[in-house]
Amino acid sequence: MYEYVRRIAFISEHASPAASLGGEDAGGQNVYVDDLSRHLSRLGYAVDIFTRRTSPDQPVILDWAPGVRIVHLDAGPPCPVAKDQLWCWMPELRDAFLRFLAERHAWYDLIHAHFWMSGWVALELKRRLGIPVVQTFHALGQTKRRHQGEADTSPPARLAVEHAIVQQADRLIAQCPAERQELIHGYGASSKRITMLPAGVDTELFHPVDQAQARLRVGLDPSEPVVVYVGRILPRKDVRNVLRAVALLVRRLGQPARLLVVGGETPEPDPQATPELGALQRLAAELGIIDRVIFTGRRPRSELAWYYGAGDVAVTTPWYEPFGLTPLEAMACGRPVIGSAVGGISFTVQPGVTGFLVPPRDPEALAWRLGQLLVEPNLRARMGDAARLRVEREFTWERAARQTALVYEQVLAEAGTPPLTPGVDERPHRLSKVHGLHRRVVHGVG
Ligand code: UDP
Repeated sequence: MYEYVRRIAFISEHASPAASLGGEDAGGQNVYVDDLSRHLSRLGYAVDIFTRRTSPDQPVILDWAPGVRIVHLDAGPPCPVAKDQLWCWMPELRDAFLRFLAERHAWYDLIHAHFWMSGWVALELKRRLGIPVVQTFHALGQTKRRHQGEADTSPPARLAVEHAIVQQADRLIAQCPAERQELIHGYGASSKRITMLPAGVDTELFHPVDQAQARLRVGLDPSEPVVVYVGRILPRKDVRNVLRAVALLVRRLGQPARLLVVGGETPEPDPQATPELGALQRLAAELGIIDRVIFTGRRPRSELAWYYGAGDVAVTTPWYEPFGLTPLEAMACGRPVIGSAVGGISFTVQPGVTGFLVPPRDPEALAWRLGQLLVEPNLRARMGDAARLRVEREFTWERAARQTALVYEQVLAEAGTPPLTPGVDERPHRLSKVHGLHRRVVHGVG
């Protein structure tokens, strides 16, 4: 009997699985590191997620899930800091990681870095320790600069650092074809070093619910048409576009509809804490639809199936979207999605099958598609069923974790590390706890 252990260090400088989601700097990346690590641990990979300490009360090590720990590293003040202000603390994060290794006699087979600043830390560690690095960007500076121009508050170093990561990481994970293209054409990445591997969705948490029950639960009229937006409340998510489309629908096309807007920094909609929420409230008033829009504030993920389920259709029309988990969540809840034809949304939503794609910043196009779906219950039901099926087939975390594990094994093989088992092991195994880490014990190998 041989023991096989893989120990993976995730570095996710600003996005911890323990953060509350829906605010300015906590969204898809937090979910990704959380769900991916949990599912990797089921395949026998022990994952430590290294993130920046944001409160003096956080323990160094937080046991988060079987086989998954969160490690809080001191880098900068122990309080929340906007992610675009964090760059100067990355050398501290690197040094804190090195201290952790030395003090705890810890070691990792591979580093999986999330976002560009973590990628820089990972390259520093690779240079000093020789540990291979897999990088998921989650968002690319070049795309952001193109869309946000002067409003982009990313540190000036971002693009150069991203270029270095593209050249030096052992493997890049692109979450959708658009990101792959940007890496190749915008950053000169070699296509051989990119693996296209979409994120997943928790199909147990996000599942179809009875609409009448959902409406009751979230306090909505059972009979009125409902459009739902779930996500961070940021200018680039362009909820203003959704408001304009709903106004067109109501005023020009004479179709009554209610809009549910879920997200924000706080559980109550507070324009002080979430300035974009204030802008949305003012716009809704200007458009004469304030009585048709419900801003709920942030909601925990455990409740979101009720919000998606209360809707007839889910919408998300950002200017750009690196991947976009919320369309997948809505699809997993059996709802058709109208999304803008950008980034990951063009990949996850199948136009005419699971929903529709519309150009960004085009309220007319959105109003027209909303109008079409809201009057056709059969089409909505067909698309909702197709959406759920697509998620079950293509976008589960089990699948994403298996594919990620294959990437790790390829990278480790290239680095000369003995294989865990050929490919990703399918043989009977059990996990046992050794020194606080979950080890995989494979029987009868070799
Ligand atoms: N989210 C949440 N509560 C809210 C609003 C959003 O839990 O009130 C979650 C949402 O379910 C999704 C994530 O935040 O999992 C947003 O991820 P997405 O990839 O859609 O956007 P990103 O935040 O990466 O821009």
